Amino acid sequence: MKRSHTMATLAAIIGVVATPIAAQSQPVPAQPAQPPMTALVGGSVVDVDSGASIRDAVVLVQGERIVKVGPAASIEVPAAAKVVRMDGKWLVPGLMNMHVHFGLKLPGAEGAELINEKDGEQSLRMAANARRTLLAGVTTVRLTAEDRGLDFMLKRAIGKGQAIGPRIETAGELIVPTGGHGSLEADGPAELSKAARTQIKGGASWIKIAISGGISDTHGDISAAPMTDSELSTIIEVAHRNGVKVTAHNGSSEAALQALKFGVDCFEHGYHLNDQVLTEMKKQGTWLVPTIVVSQPGAYEFYRKIGSPEWYLERVASTGKDHWAVLQKAIRMGVNVALGTDQFPFEPNGGTTATVAEAELYQKAGMTHLQALQAATIKPAAMLGIDKTVGRIAVGQYADIVAVAADPTKDISALRTLDFVMKGGVIYRNDTAPETIVQ
Ligand SMILES: [Zn+2]
Repeated sequence: MKRSHTMATLAAIIGVVATPIAAQSQPVPAQPAQPPMTALVGGSVVDVDSGASIRDAVVLVQGERIVKVGPAASIEVPAAAKVVRMDGKWLVPGLMNMHVHFGLKLPGAEGAELINEKDGEQSLRMAANARRTLLAGVTTVRLTAEDRGLDFMLKRAIGKGQAIGPRIETAGELIVPTGGHGSLEADGPAELSKAARTQIKGGASWIKIAISGGISDTHGDISAAPMTDSELSTIIEVAHRNGVKVTAHNGSSEAALQALKFGVDCFEHGYHLNDQVLTEMKKQGTWLVPTIVVSQPGAYEFYRKIGSPEWYLERVASTGKDHWAVLQKAIRMGVNVALGTDQFPFEPNGGTTATVAEAELYQKAGMTHLQALQAATIKPAAMLGIDKTVGRIAVGQYADIVAVAADPTKDISALRTLDFVMKGGVIYRNDTAPETIVQ
C-alpha cells in the first residue's frame, strides 16, 4: 500500500500518466534522459550589446544552456518545462567580477586573526565567500592571487557540485621579484619561468605579477619598476606560449610602459597611470580592471569595520584622487575596462554590494549606463576569451542570468534591486518565489 502510494506521488511529480496493463507487456524503448527544462516567463530580456530589450519574453533553458530566447508570442513553452514567472523583472546576464580574492586578508584586526589559518580553515572560508558571491549575482570571477593552490581545489569542488559558487578563472599565486607585493618570490628568467609554469600546471588560466608596490605595502616605492626587462619579457613569453594571459598589479607608469613593451594583457587598479600609458593601452587593446571601489569614500566604512590602521586609510585617501582621475581619462580615451573590485564581490558598500558600487562608479566617471553594464558582463567575458559561452542571454550560452526590478541600461543602479540568480540553469536565489530554488 505504501509502495503504490509512493509510485502515485512520483507519477504526479514527473507528470506521467498511468500506463494501461496491456501496454506494460510491450518492451519499453530506451529513452535518453532529457536534461530538465526551465522557462523564465514574462520578464524583459536585456541585450547587453545594443541596450535594447525584449518585453514579455521567454528564456527557455535546458540543462546548463539557453536554448531559446524571444517574445512570449513566438516561443512555445514545452509542457515538461518548469515555468518561473519573471513579471516586472529585467533579466540581465550574470555579473562578472575580474579582481577577487576569496582568501583575502588585509592589514588590521580581522586580518591578524587569520595569520595562522590552516589550509582546511582557509578552504572553508573561501567556499563560504564563493557562495555569498554567487548569491550576490556574480556568476563568474577571476581570482587574482590566492594561496597554496586552494583556489584550484575550490574551482574543482564547485565544478563537481561539492561547493556552491561562481565560475572561476584563476591566476593561482601572485608571482613577484623578491621583496615585491606578493607571496611567490622568484628572480631572474629561470625562476620566473618555473614559477609561471608551476601555476599553469596547477590550473592557472592567468598569470598575475606585481610590477610595482601596493597600497598595503609598508616598504618600497609604489612608483618603482623593480623587474628587469629580461625577467618581465620572459614571464610574459612563457605564459603566452601556454595560451595564458598575464595581468600586472601596477601603480607605476614606468613599470607599465615596460610591461606594455612585452605585451602584458591587463593592468589591475591603475592608481597612477599617465597619458602615455593610457594611449599605449588603447593602441594595444590592453585591459584595465580598475577596482575603483577600494580607493573611494564608500570603502572607508569597510576599512574601519576590519580595523585597518590609520596610515592605511590615509594612503587610500591620497591614492583615491589620482585613481579616480586615471579612470575618468581611461574611459574618455576608450581603454578596455572590465569590472573588478579587489573586495569581496558581496562586500557591503554604500547600501549595495562592492560589485554594484563599482559599476555605479564607472557611470559616475564617464561611462553610459549601458557601458557600465557591459563592463560587468560582456567586457569581462571578452577579456577572459569565454564570450562564446558567458556574458549574454543568448541561445547556446550558459544560463547565467540575474534579475532586477528596472532597466539597468537606463540606470545602472537598478542592479541594487537584484533578487534572482541562476547559474548554469540552476536557480540559487529567487527572493519573490523561494520555492523555485533548487539546491
Ligand atoms: Zn587584489
